[in-house]
Amino acid sequence: PNAVELREVSKTYGDSVAVRNISMQIAKGSFVTILGPSGCGKSTLLRMISGFATPSSGDVLIDGHSVLGAKPYERDTAMVFQDYALFPHRTVAQNLAFGLRMRGVAKSEIASRVAAMLELVNLMGFGERRIGQISGGQAQRVALGRALIVRPAVLLLDEPLGALDLKLRKQMQAELKTIHRNLGLTFVAVTHDQEEALTLSDRIAVMNGGALEQFDTPENLYRRP
Ligand code: ADP
Ligand code: ADP
Repeated sequence: PNAVELREVSKTYGDSVAVRNISMQIAKGSFVTILGPSGCGKSTLLRMISGFATPSSGDVLIDGHSVLGAKPYERDTAMVFQDYALFPHRTVAQNLAFGLRMRGVAKSEIASRVAAMLELVNLMGFGERRIGQISGGQAQRVALGRALIVRPAVLLLDEPLGALDLKLRKQMQAELKTIHRNLGLTFVAVTHDQEEALTLSDRIAVMNGGALEQFDTPENLYRRP
């Protein structure tokens, strides 16, 4: 099965339609960005893939299993939030360990997976720092590591680099691509930045007014005539 399959998914809030009848299949191991202007429904779509929001109609499948009605620990996705949503008074290592502790993973395994994750996201030596004492780029890496450490089938990223300045954003784009390539996981990221979508992804889902307008490779979408 595909990593993600959307079947005629819609979401309405009262009278307004946030997501309009979207069907889409995301292949395993691909890096997809959802691109479109503010308010077009990108975050709502991502939250339905994560199970944080329930579709008004339609179905969402991860690895062939519907997320509707699944308990959070049964869903094989993890989310990197735009504002990172880290615990500010805890250390980097404690933040990384959070999802594993929730799942009752043994302490010794938590320690080794935290150490491996510090290496993967380039935070070696920062494990004992508190979140309030690290830079924005480092906090972004902690948020990424905290989601990856539970080994989800699909990593969801909501404007992951939106809070960073341009230089750092370029650097983190490269790091994200490297991590995606090394892990072979499926990544789905929301962005309103066309440049970022072109840089990061294998395929771009272009949204407008809640609808999916196009879903294709950067080459096919932006090829010069
Ligand atoms: P984007 O991520 O592209 O900026 P959103 O998915 O956040 O777009 O929002 C799409 C539309 O749905 C917007 O009009 C927004 O105001 C509306 N919306 C999103 N979440 C809610 C909600 N919880 N309640 C009501 N309306 C919402
Ligand atoms: P984004 O940065 O994706 O555009 P927003 O700032 O639109 O996010 O939304 C932030 C939060 O507010 C989300 O949880 C969303 O569901 C909620 N929200 C957005 N629009 C509305 C709305 N019109 N009414 C109620 N809640 C909303």
